[in-house]
Amino acid sequence: MQALGARRVGDLSRAPSRAAQAVVRTVPKALSQQTSTISLDEEIARLRQENELLKQQLALYQASTKGSAVKAAVVEVLPKKAAPASPSVDGGILWPKPGEAFWERAPRTEPAPLEGGAADPPVVERDAQAQHIIHITAEMAPIAKVGGLGDVVTGLAKAALARGHFVTVMLPFYECLPKGQIEGLKHEMDIEVPKGYRWDGEIMVGSLKTSVFWGRVQGCPVFLLKPADDTNCNIFRGGRIYGGSYNEMEAYLYFCRACLEYLRVSNQHPHVLQLHDWHAAAASLLYWDVYNPSGASRTRVMLTIHNMDNTGECRQDEFSFTGVPGEAFATIDKALDERTIGHNPERLNLMKGGIVYANAVTTVSPTYAREVMTGGAAGWLRNTFARPELSDKFYGILNGIDTEEWNPATDPLLAANFDADRPAGKALCKRFLQEGLGLEVDPKKPLVAVVSRLVPQKGIHLIKAALFRTVERGGQFVLLGSGHSDPVFRGLAEGQFKDHPNCRLKIMYSERLAHQIYAAADVVVVPSMFEPCGLTQMIALRYGAVPLVRRTGGLADTVFDLDHAPPGSGARNGFTFDGADDPSLHGALDRALELYAAQPSRWAALAQDNMRLDVSWGKSAKSYVDVYRSISPP
Ligand code: ADP
Repeated sequence: MQALGARRVGDLSRAPSRAAQAVVRTVPKALSQQTSTISLDEEIARLRQENELLKQQLALYQASTKGSAVKAAVVEVLPKKAAPASPSVDGGILWPKPGEAFWERAPRTEPAPLEGGAADPPVVERDAQAQHIIHITAEMAPIAKVGGLGDVVTGLAKAALARGHFVTVMLPFYECLPKGQIEGLKHEMDIEVPKGYRWDGEIMVGSLKTSVFWGRVQGCPVFLLKPADDTNCNIFRGGRIYGGSYNEMEAYLYFCRACLEYLRVSNQHPHVLQLHDWHAAAASLLYWDVYNPSGASRTRVMLTIHNMDNTGECRQDEFSFTGVPGEAFATIDKALDERTIGHNPERLNLMKGGIVYANAVTTVSPTYAREVMTGGAAGWLRNTFARPELSDKFYGILNGIDTEEWNPATDPLLAANFDADRPAGKALCKRFLQEGLGLEVDPKKPLVAVVSRLVPQKGIHLIKAALFRTVERGGQFVLLGSGHSDPVFRGLAEGQFKDHPNCRLKIMYSERLAHQIYAAADVVVVPSMFEPCGLTQMIALRYGAVPLVRRTGGLADTVFDLDHAPPGSGARNGFTFDGADDPSLHGALDRALELYAAQPSRWAALAQDNMRLDVSWGKSAKSYVDVYRSISPP
């Protein structure tokens, strides 16, 4: 590796055209033969592109070969900004070029830790009696993250581990997982998992050989499960977490059974099985019906609802993918989907079954819990939540964010680090993003951002309203998102706002770009129609941005209006509005933009105060532990 790097460094220390020739010499024979068939212009363009890439690699290489003669030669060919001669506040930043996918590479030649080091993390209280908790989930950040569910599983698991509990996560072994991020990955064992399948129009029950792997993700132990035979079974195969080529319902029903079967075979009896969303809800029914009908085992079940948008509507015959016939659960008091009563055939609702069978049900904020119980947020599950036992077993516990993962003082994805006491780096992050996205570079323009799945829940029309209003008022707007509404925003990105100096719409998913946007943003808008908790507003606070949110669910529990928050609410940290129409959003956005323009020092103080707020898992992990204890037998 080193020899290759050194040779490339030598090549590039020459004039660019010689460097390009040197690059051509390094290509394999077959490739160089191909190049002779393309035009000279194409070849020059290709070499320029390759040269740019090599310059970036060189800058990184240069940082790792301090003091070599090569290093001195390299500095000459790098643009001035990329390698300033003497260190300065922004020394070492590799300033992006417009059009470059800058978020895919390191923003600096080397990390520049904040002077005095990052603030010590808060001291974590340890609990006296350790509990054994196993999470069953479809997502886990950062290896299998689509939205907040992945963040929450990892954040909560790490927080409970830090409090002294034994915590393990069980996750599908999706083909697309980045295996390099799983420490100590090893095959644990193969097991036979009962599974229904269709044969000649009939449902038969057989078994599916399943491989269980073990590893650690960010220090948290993880079991990963998948069918042992990848060639004849496509479950969990494909390039994405959801929407692979397999039947999702079949895959998660099988996954639930496989998790329980593995715990049985390996003789594990955790205190609590914490199931997340509809994907894992069937484990609640199976556990009490098949694995522990007498209640003799100490394990109890908690179902955590992150979103009621999808509750897992399931045909009765499909349920037999678990190896158990679905008819057994098709009654109103169990899992019958009340919306389908009188239909032919009537269906099951996995979330409902999960709720009915679980010992405790939690959702991710107190306000959303109230909206579910009394405000209509339960939708077709309202009768389930109206059962008398629900009021004793349903809890709203506010999510936190993983403050190690989301820490602007140490975040390696940022051009410059910063925190509440040393906020200067934020301005550099803003300039970095403006340059990278090809926006007008102006520190005085308020940068308004949205990072979101683009689905109706997130208030698509209000995101659009925020975009138009911001640009109209002379601010800058950046969107990072993907989902059902991609075409709407793609149309705007390629039409009206193409190459706009104050607006960039990135219709994609990128964890790395998300970090850079939060660090650069002045305002983060979250105009959801409903929001069980929402993490983006908390990440915004942590990264010194001011959240502007629609006051619903967890947004109402975390953002308190600077002008209107009632006495006794939390620290006033942002802007809120109630309506679902454009004027409601405009009112809040106008107030934010006016404050930004008219009172910069008040704005700066607000951003700094926001960075000091506690948005960690600290308090919430304790609340979860209290619920674990309350359901565990003495
Ligand atoms: P939800 O779970 O409903 O999507 P949350 O606010 O709870 O909403 O969590 C969203 C998480 O997903 C945040 O960490 C946010 O930064 C991230 N996210 C959403 N969309 C994108 C995207 N396009 N690229 C990168 N991260 C994204």
